[in-house]
This record gives sequence, C-alpha cells and structure tokens, in this order.
Amino acid sequence: MRSKQCELCDLNRPALVRPKTGQRICKDCFYYVFETEIHNVMTEHKLFHRGEKVGIGASGGKDSTVLAYVMKLLNERYDYGIELYLISVDEGIRGYRDDSLATVKRNQQQYELPMTVVSYEDLYDGWTMDNVVARIGLKNNCTYCGVFRRQALDRAALSLDIHHLVTGHNADDIAETVLMNLLRGDVARLPRSTEITTQSDTSPTKRSKPFKYTYEKEIVLYAHYKKLDYFSTECTYSPEAFRGTARAMIKQLECIRPSSILDIIYSGEAMQLSDTVQERLPQQTQCERCGFISSNRICKACMLLEGLNTGILGLGLGSDRKTRKLQSQTPECAKG
Ligand code: SF4
Ligand code: ZN
Repeated sequence: MRSKQCELCDLNRPALVRPKTGQRICKDCFYYVFETEIHNVMTEHKLFHRGEKVGIGASGGKDSTVLAYVMKLLNERYDYGIELYLISVDEGIRGYRDDSLATVKRNQQQYELPMTVVSYEDLYDGWTMDNVVARIGLKNNCTYCGVFRRQALDRAALSLDIHHLVTGHNADDIAETVLMNLLRGDVARLPRSTEITTQSDTSPTKRSKPFKYTYEKEIVLYAHYKKLDYFSTECTYSPEAFRGTARAMIKQLECIRPSSILDIIYSGEAMQLSDTVQERLPQQTQCERCGFISSNRICKACMLLEGLNTGILGLGLGSDRKTRKLQSQTPECAKG
C-alpha cells in the first residue's frame, strides 16, 4: 500500500507528485531537492568563480524569474561570492514585452539586484520587433529577433564588464533543440547544443544554463508554490510551427516516460563530431561595420539590418549553417 507520508522525509503529507521521478513528496522536500540539484549541477561543472560578475538574462517569464530567485538564494546559502545582475532586452513588442519588463522591474526590487535594459530600438536604427514584423511579416521573425537579442545581451554585458551570462534554458528546451537539430540533419550542432557552458566564436561572453537538467514542469511548480511574480503570456509573434511540433513531441514522450527528456539530452551529448564536421566550424573575426565580434566579414545583425533598411529582405537569411543554428535554438525570449 502507498505511504500516506512524503516519500523523502516520511514526516509530512505529500503535496505533489514530482514530475522528474514520480515521487509523492511534501513541499519542503520539493524545494530542497529542486534547489540542491541545481546547486550540485553548478558546483560539479564549476560554473562560477568567486568575485565573478554574472548577468542573468531576465525576461520576466517563469524560467528567468525562477533562475534569478534561485541564483540569489544559492549564492547566499552556499556563499559562492558572485555578483548578480539582471539584464533585460526590450524587443519592442507592444502588449508583450512592455508588460513582461514591468515584471522584471518588480523582480529587481523584490530580489534587490541591479538591472539593465537594452532596446532594439536604440541599438538597431530604430527597428523594434513590431516594426520588423510590419515589414517582413511572420516568417523568420524569430531569426531576426534571435540575432538581435544575442548581440544586445552581449553589448549590455560588456558595458557592465560582465563576461558570463546565465539563461533560463531548461532540460525541455535542450531536449527540444537536440530533437530539432536531429530532424534537420544538423549533426554538427548536437554536442554544442547540450553543453552547459558555451563560448561562441561570435560572442565575448560565455553563456551557461544552470537549469540544464531541470524539468520545465518543476520550474512551473516551484514558481507556483513559492508564489513568484512572473509573466506567463506568450509572445504575440510566437515561434514557428516546426518548433511547436518538436515541443509537443517532447511533452508527449514525457507523459509516457518522464526520463525521455534527460535521455534525449544524454543522446545528444554522446554523439561525437567527426573531424571533417569540426573543420567546418567558423573562425572569429570582427564585423567591418559595427566592429562587434563576428565569424564573417559582416556580422549577422548588420546583414539583417541592411536587409530591413534597403528592403532586400532575404539578406542574411540564407540557408547557411549559421541561420540554421539560430533557427534551431530555443529563443532566449521565453528564457532570458
Ligand atoms: Fe522574438 Fe521570441 Fe517573439 Fe520570436 S517569439 S519574435 S524570438 S520574442
Ligand atoms: Zn518531505
């Protein structure tokens, strides 16, 4: 017969079934295992060093809100000695980003962390995402947004002398990226998409994913039980159907076998690059226009910008490896 008590402490009544393990546990034990697993992942991978400045990509969504809360909590509990900053990007999407930024501003006060906001409008010749979508429609909009956001976050981090950003990408997102790369035949991206820390050839900041092994359902439960203040509306220009289908497949697999999410990540990790694929990876240089780090003569953001300014909308949207990479990543909007 099933125990009436929490399967971990055997003291309290269970409040939930833990999505990752199926255990019936109490709230206190859930908080403990959720936080401790993240702490263990961060320390086992030696993600931070004492005195390091770490930027949290903060969108006001559930992932980045829980990330900011947990990072602050663990930094104090285990005395990591890191300095945390919230960095937000304003893509200029009325009715979505303006409201979610208001959430980040409340988080900033609740968690007492410094906060910086950078906007597409300021960085990219006045182009907000509302303007971009008015010009190009709803095809490839997330590619523009992803390129712009990546560089915007880097620029904000650099201005604060931050060289390490953490984002709220969770285990479900990483499994989704692995699956999309597989379905697109983009095997070269597989090992990289599962790395907990990446230092891209086109970025001066490294990026880490402390939630690499954290299930989305558990993030939602944690935010709910802790009554965290987050913004849950989807972007008006939500991501393309292919990604949505990959996401739905992961959710279905999770229902049948909860370990599927971690198993997909392990599979991605286990696939090794052949030497020929590795040779095709790009070299780092500087964009001739904006001076920012790039793997091409002109960086992707400048190419897309030129396309918008001149009306040649295909510019920078080729079927090249880099565009495919951007399209296969989970947008940081929902995370960062
Ligand atoms: Fe940008 Fe995300 Fe909206 Fe796409 S879904 S337009 S990446 S904010
Ligand atoms: Zn318990």
